[in-house]
Amino acid sequence: MTEQDLTEAEIIQKQGCCLSEDIRLQYLKDMGIQSWSLKYPSDVECEIPSLNTLESQPVEPVSVEHKETATEIRPVSTDISSFGWEQLQKAVSQCQLCELHSTRTRTVFGVGNPNADLMIIGDAPEDEDDRQGEPFLGAAGELLDAMMKAIELDRQKVYITNVLKCQPPDNRNPHTSETVCCDPYLQQQIKLVQPKLILALGRIAAHHLLVSQKPLAELRQQKHIYNGIPMRVSYHPAYLLRKPVEKRKSWQDLLEVKQLLKQ
Ligand code: SF4
Repeated sequence: MTEQDLTEAEIIQKQGCCLSEDIRLQYLKDMGIQSWSLKYPSDVECEIPSLNTLESQPVEPVSVEHKETATEIRPVSTDISSFGWEQLQKAVSQCQLCELHSTRTRTVFGVGNPNADLMIIGDAPEDEDDRQGEPFLGAAGELLDAMMKAIELDRQKVYITNVLKCQPPDNRNPHTSETVCCDPYLQQQIKLVQPKLILALGRIAAHHLLVSQKPLAELRQQKHIYNGIPMRVSYHPAYLLRKPVEKRKSWQDLLEVKQLLKQ
């Protein structure tokens, strides 16, 4: 077969994924992904089309070790490193360490399987999250659900949280001081979940976790190790709603996540 355009369905068929084609197509439809054409080399073996195979050269994992925050910002005076889930959630619900406490409706702690293999970390709560106290609700949450469904996951199988536990007013970008203040809670959540893989969704999450200011488009093409845990970066569902054309890249990222979770 000579090089030719393949539709999304054909690409998935080449991968030999375990979902039936009808179900896969339905999932793609649920994610709002229309069939598109990609130049796909005819000699590619049946493998997940990660960016390494489709768009970029193989890259070595970039290892990031969590660094203590600057000494002038010591957000949590209480040592929370021994906290279990209940204590930690209570501490967050009562937290007033940054100015976001004054504008939040509810803290948004996290949801899902506390022993999940996959931990999804987003940026910050949005309107509906703030109202209900759960991350990734509203339209972005619906898209995330569809994305997870596409790789046979759901909210009960993964653990989902955000870098920030309180919504910034008008969904403005968080200040560094706010993400720094909130970071110990996230660190303790990661410690409790002990995931096999972290998926950072969104620029704020990626920049915070990787201590980087590189464009997200660049970071998602790299393999990261966060405190010894494999980590990948992809687009936030809210961004995908604003820029649906990027859903195809998100789909590639999800397939790589699915493959990594099998290992
Ligand atoms: S965003 Fe984090 S640090 Fe700030 S008040 Fe909320 S829980 Fe506390």
